[in-house]
Amino acid sequence: MRSDKHKILVIPGPVEVRPEILDAQTEWMIGHRSTAFADLFARLQEKLKKVFLTDSRVIVIGASGTGLWEGASRNCIRDDRKALHLVGGAFSERWAEVSKANGKQVDVIAVDWGRAHTPEMVEAALKAADQPYDAVCVVHNETSTGVINPVRDIAAVVRAHTDETLVLVDSVSGFLGAEIRPDEWGLDFVLTSSQKAFGLPPGLAFASCSDRVLARARQIPYRGYYFDLIEIDASGQKNNTPSTPPISLMFAADKQLDAILAEGMESRWARHTAMRDITSGWALNRDLGLFAQEGYRSPTVTAVTNTRGFDVDTMAKFMGGKGFSMDKGYGKIKGKTFRIAHMADMQVTVLEEILSGLDEFLATV
Ligand SMILES: *Cc1c(COP(=O)(O)O)cnc(C)c1O
Repeated sequence: MRSDKHKILVIPGPVEVRPEILDAQTEWMIGHRSTAFADLFARLQEKLKKVFLTDSRVIVIGASGTGLWEGASRNCIRDDRKALHLVGGAFSERWAEVSKANGKQVDVIAVDWGRAHTPEMVEAALKAADQPYDAVCVVHNETSTGVINPVRDIAAVVRAHTDETLVLVDSVSGFLGAEIRPDEWGLDFVLTSSQKAFGLPPGLAFASCSDRVLARARQIPYRGYYFDLIEIDASGQKNNTPSTPPISLMFAADKQLDAILAEGMESRWARHTAMRDITSGWALNRDLGLFAQEGYRSPTVTAVTNTRGFDVDTMAKFMGGKGFSMDKGYGKIKGKTFRIAHMADMQVTVLEEILSGLDEFLATV
């Protein structure tokens, strides 16, 4: 039974999950070696390939997105080669740390927080390297800063430069809110988690995975065990998983994917872009700033620069009284910025209630 004390989540993950999706998790449990499970897996796979706009496979695993960072790094970067990580915020920084923690050699292109990576920067780094990188690792939507990176153009320069470099993308907070087309754009691995723009509870991670990734993985003897993509793919071909998956969450995903497909990908992206424009217009009209560079502002999360210098804890408390759970900024820009997430199933009407609540707060400072 759900309590009545709920505050609507305006934080960038976990996000608000619709009651029907929460309820889908209370379906009777089934065994993961049953035909009922194989049917569920096959159904999910078909729908996931549609939303990932891919003809390859979509990995589904019980983990948060961080798990698939580790999986991507371990399966795609050989010990005697390097990866190029594009770093410009807390999450892209952490993925580079994950690669290093797995013993991988890493070069970094660092930009100031709030800035995007350009294809020119990547091209210059590819040309300067003495041997081709095994992978370029890029965060599509940097949740800490509200920057969306031009992944399509970055992938294009990588692909034009060499066939040896895989393009690995974290779209944890972008996927299903911001346009991304793995096959068309030549993205080898696009990973995401359930609790952001997907609009599910936390606990599931997904990734589109190209044949090139599996070919690379076969050249790496020690891929680890839990995130071994070869094993996961082999089971997946039989509509199964190597170990016990979070079946309840998969029921919820099955239902949520129906809603997403009914809305349509283009409409879903457009709804998010509209919410981005409303939110950024609101901030600028209130003499607040936008942390992300113009032209690279995320459709799913806006980092507002707190140019009026109010106390974000007081703001969050005020908004809590109105039934909204607010973010107070992330990492080293906490307090100097705060983020308004407008992702997953949030509708414009709810966003407008949030912004008018913030207006009431601003009248008090
Ligand atoms: C939230 C987030 C992560 C971490 O995902 P978890 O599911 O919490 O492990 C990684 N990258 C980005 C861009 C994120 O927003």
